[in-house]
Amino acid sequence: MMTTTATTEISHAVTEFLQREQRLLIDGEWLPAQTGATFATLNPATGKPLCYVAAGDAADVDAAVAAAQRALSAWAATPPAQRERLLHRFADLMETHKEELAQLETLDNGKPFRVAYNVEINVAIGQMRYYAGWPTKLTGETYAVSSPGFHVYTRREPVGVCAAITPWNYSLVMAAQKIGPALAAGNTLVLKPAEQTPLTALRLGELALEAGIPPGVLNVVTGFGHTAGAALSHHPGVAKVAFTGSTEVGKAIQRAAAETIKRVSLELGGKSPLILFDDVEDLDAAAEAALWAIFSNSGQNCVAGSRLFVQAGIYDAVLERLATRAQQLVVGPGLEASTDLGPLISAEQLARVQRYIEIGRRSGATLVIGGERLGGRLADGYFLAPTIFAHVADNAAIACEEIFGPVLSVFRFEDEEEVIARANALPFGLAAGVWTQNLSRAHRMAARLKAGVVWINTYDWFDPAAPFGGMGESGLGRELGRQVMDAYTELKTVWVKVE
Ligand code: ADP
Ligand code: MG
Repeated sequence: MMTTTATTEISHAVTEFLQREQRLLIDGEWLPAQTGATFATLNPATGKPLCYVAAGDAADVDAAVAAAQRALSAWAATPPAQRERLLHRFADLMETHKEELAQLETLDNGKPFRVAYNVEINVAIGQMRYYAGWPTKLTGETYAVSSPGFHVYTRREPVGVCAAITPWNYSLVMAAQKIGPALAAGNTLVLKPAEQTPLTALRLGELALEAGIPPGVLNVVTGFGHTAGAALSHHPGVAKVAFTGSTEVGKAIQRAAAETIKRVSLELGGKSPLILFDDVEDLDAAAEAALWAIFSNSGQNCVAGSRLFVQAGIYDAVLERLATRAQQLVVGPGLEASTDLGPLISAEQLARVQRYIEIGRRSGATLVIGGERLGGRLADGYFLAPTIFAHVADNAAIACEEIFGPVLSVFRFEDEEEVIARANALPFGLAAGVWTQNLSRAHRMAARLKAGVVWINTYDWFDPAAPFGGMGESGLGRELGRQVMDAYTELKTVWVKVE
């Protein structure tokens, strides 16, 4: 019997977009890099170039920062209600071009179109709308100082020119997550998307102009980390850098930012524990959550639940269930409707993950399932089978380091004290999950786990209203929620002598 797989048809608008050589957005104009250099962005499902993009470097960053500086005072002085209207119009255009944006994301990153279209683009739009509402809600305070005859109050002012340096795993969402609060607070921005996935950021740049956001308020400089990214993080004209990416690069950015005391917010790596207690009500639901905690986005997720701790009483049952379900997952091109897991982002990332699998094998851990690159019709792309290791030593490299791929390590534990110590043993502290029916235990665990976010009987939920960020080497500062508005504003205290 023939089976056919429904495949998303690429829209005319996307085809046309990919035929154009993509330029930098500086001061409302689309310019080639000053050197004329370009680079190809590849489709990770095929390994073939999708499109050529300008390779911006320090000179282009200078031009973009200068444009952002020129646009700053007028944008900061734009009435809050008008900034709201412009950001809502931007969100409306994202909605109008939803299919196109989701297709670009799938082509550039490889992820299932189903997820890009039904989840991620909605998340990005939801964030833009949430931040669109903030300009009219920013407030200062007055203070009951004890010295008589003073009126003391605070004002929230924009920080200035901001830089956003974003990763390739959720490029559209990460761009929205930084553009929204930066512009809402009256800052101007230079966005440098990851070199692996520049396309949705460029399309967002077009939509921002179409929405009427003034030239220079949002600039997009595509290019590499060590050139464009480094130039932004060293630039004296940049007042704040918002970065999402690896812990290693986060450290370099924080060092660079120190030169001029830039504000920095960092969303970095993780090795997040997901802990299943044997009192879980529904074992299948818990196993299913654990499955998606690691395998969604092919494991290329900062909050991936890459360390699964299972209490002894349910360990065998959970491991068996996980192996069965992982085997059923369909790995394939993101444009095919049946695909659960797309390819990894690049040949380098595939090689890196394969290296970890090899290290895991040699460490004496048991490879339960997966481990191999997929061939046949998938041979040109960077496809890897979902991989599960059991009997992993706590100090093994695969148990301690962020792999950023579809590789799960499963550990057995006996009791609460033990699992807290083991879960908290790493320098990371991004996310954690706990499954239990015991209410007191759930709250005890939430209080004691070293993580910026703890999910109880769920995993990987986000909302623009809820703050997110990491402890320890997982980050600095919080994004989302009202808290991010603090990160994109300066607080000024005003003393007035009242005679
Ligand atoms: P990954 O290792 O997963 O590719 P990175 O942390 O290297 O993640 O990349 C995240 C973002 O940081 C990308 O936009 C990348 O270009 C940028 N980047 C990489 N190196 C530097 C650097 N030295 N300075 C500034 N930005 C950088
Ligand atoms: Mg690409």
